[in-house]
Amino acid sequence: MKIRTAIILTIISVLLFSCSSRNELPDTGDQPTTAAGEPTNLSPATQPLPDLPAQATASALAAAPTLSAAPDGASSTQETPKPANCTAPADLTPALTEGPYWKEGSPERTNLIDSGMPGTKITITGYVLDGECQPVPGAWIDFWQADSNGNYDNNGYILRGHQFTDADGRYILETVVPGLYSGRTEHIHVKVQAPGGPELTTQFFFPDVAANLSDRIFEPSLVLSVEERGGEQFAEFNFIVATR
Ligand code: FE
Repeated sequence: MKIRTAIILTIISVLLFSCSSRNELPDTGDQPTTAAGEPTNLSPATQPLPDLPAQATASALAAAPTLSAAPDGASSTQETPKPANCTAPADLTPALTEGPYWKEGSPERTNLIDSGMPGTKITITGYVLDGECQPVPGAWIDFWQADSNGNYDNNGYILRGHQFTDADGRYILETVVPGLYSGRTEHIHVKVQAPGGPELTTQFFFPDVAANLSDRIFEPSLVLSVEERGGEQFAEFNFIVATR
């Protein structure tokens, strides 16, 4: 009887020890796996984040302030657009004679076309630049010209106007193509002055005008490149001026 009791107690002890050992398996370390080797029944809180997505998230967060700040940062580092057709050091725009018809006190305007004015419309745009091809904001530009019949308004200010270049050194002039008058080819007179710089007086000319060949003032480097679209003309011209 004692022997049987001892055997039963021994069996119970072995069973208890076995159960106790399983419960002491560490929570971490070798994780229980399925037959396929994948983790089983891990709670979301204890599931390790996959390495790659975690790194990507960290990178995205690190990059986020830069990305979100990019528009502001970009505006602060954006350079003023520069004309492609200027190579420093650039030659100054040649000066030409003023002629007899300049008048002081022209109105400030970029469009010289009055209602009903005859002629072919032309829009001339460009920059005022210094010899290093840097835009000159606030430069004064004064235009005056004959009408499409070759006549100047010496009493008033028809086809006369001045303006100032914008913050990027740009100007725009809307006017009509001037006509010929005795001894002269088609031309538009202009004075340009950078703030604090000397005044430049010169003229624009037009391409493919027969009278260019016989005009004693004509200067080939001052011929506009004119494009025609929809019955209007468009041209670009950059002035290169001294700034002091
Ligand atoms: Fe003239």
